[in-house]
Amino acid sequence: MKSLYAGPVFEMARNQFHVIADHLSIPEDDRDRLLYPKRAIVVSCPIHMDDGRTEVFAGYRVQHHLTLGPAKGGTRFAANVDIGEIAALAIWMSWKCALADLPYGGGKGGVAVDPRALSLNELENLSRRYMQEMIPFVGPRVDVMAPDMGTNEQVMAWFMDTYSMYQGITVPEIVTGKPVGTGGTLGRREATGHGVAFLAFRALDALGVAPTEATAIVQGFGNVGSHAALGLAARGVKLIGVSDASIAYYDPKGLDVRALVAHAVKTGDLAGYSGQATIDARTLLDQPCDVLAPCAIERTIDADAARRLRCRVIAEGANGPTTPEADRVLAERNDGIFVIPDILCNSGGVIVSYFEWVQDLQQYFWSRDEVMDRLERALDRSWAMVVARAKRDGVSNRTAAMAIGVERVQKAKHARGLFP
Ligand code: NAD
Repeated sequence: MKSLYAGPVFEMARNQFHVIADHLSIPEDDRDRLLYPKRAIVVSCPIHMDDGRTEVFAGYRVQHHLTLGPAKGGTRFAANVDIGEIAALAIWMSWKCALADLPYGGGKGGVAVDPRALSLNELENLSRRYMQEMIPFVGPRVDVMAPDMGTNEQVMAWFMDTYSMYQGITVPEIVTGKPVGTGGTLGRREATGHGVAFLAFRALDALGVAPTEATAIVQGFGNVGSHAALGLAARGVKLIGVSDASIAYYDPKGLDVRALVAHAVKTGDLAGYSGQATIDARTLLDQPCDVLAPCAIERTIDADAARRLRCRVIAEGANGPTTPEADRVLAERNDGIFVIPDILCNSGGVIVSYFEWVQDLQQYFWSRDEVMDRLERALDRSWAMVVARAKRDGVSNRTAAMAIGVERVQKAKHARGLFP
């Protein structure tokens, strides 16, 4: 099929899918239907800027499939967002939701904007305008949004409020990742990072490494990276390296995770935390450690980086941090680096988003312990399935995880027919 989706991130999602399709012997006839998104929406979002100008921002939303339920996925505000990247992220969401056995198809959206260049007022205008443009195409049973890079609980509150104003009633179930008190769930803020740490412990356990003996390096220190670092440190793992878009730090004696988080919350990033222990951001990934958690953007571990890695576990908090070429290098190295693939490793976010949606639909809210307990049980189920499948078929954890996801979507499509 000829399509408008292009770019390195989309190519990566396409290549990965074809590896899985070959592995599962999916007939040619089924492949385009499984891979290409059902629907893509591109909108112009004009807003008033503080200086009186009107500026127009490009907004996107991709609904990969609706076979298992509404589309579900985050909204990214980043300068270089384009339709190819959003489509790739929606496709990964599909395999992720199916792996976790959630009643969702994959969705993803975004606006091409650097949110840090906007005032709070401009950010609110843009968030509301984006949601308003999306109203004809989304709904609690059609497409449920969530936060991603560059968006947060406040942006979700503006999305929910804008949608609700147009309906004339409060509709909390239109987005997840909202503030607690406006229909948000306890545990959502830390869910993704908590899941990354939880699964890293499962991997360390499988390798026979005690958390208190282990070291970690975390790339990216936003929602996912900071909570992954806190989760790892909570059980005694020593954080020896950390980076964000502004700076990288490395100290084999260990960094103070809580102080780093406090600094990042106060100033917006890690720069200025310390004049010492800085390191080149790329070199950080080469340092020996037990757990390397890429929690920033796509494609930060390419083939070159993969050749130099000296970690034992890669816990993929980000979506798509490891390129297919890097996967091939890791397979050739054959030295047992244990990869927890993104669609498993960061699935805690969408699992708790699902819990939030269920609570909103029922207007019945759970305690934090209930949320975390159900989250850990869900992660353990997926973990056991992926590890068993990788062993049974002699394939990588990524191939096993994606195969489970793709297979579930394929089965549902076969059972239902061509429409969804
Ligand atoms: P965020 O905006 O809160 O934080 C992103 C972090 O990455 C920031 O610290 C930023 O400075 C850093 N960063 C950006 N470019 C970098 C680079 N080149 N090197 C090092 N650091 C860099 O975003 P987030 O919500 O934490 O999302 C991070 C990743 O996790 C994304 O890939 C996202 O799709 C994925 N993810 C997020 C969630 C969630 O619940 N938020 C769920 C699943 C997956």
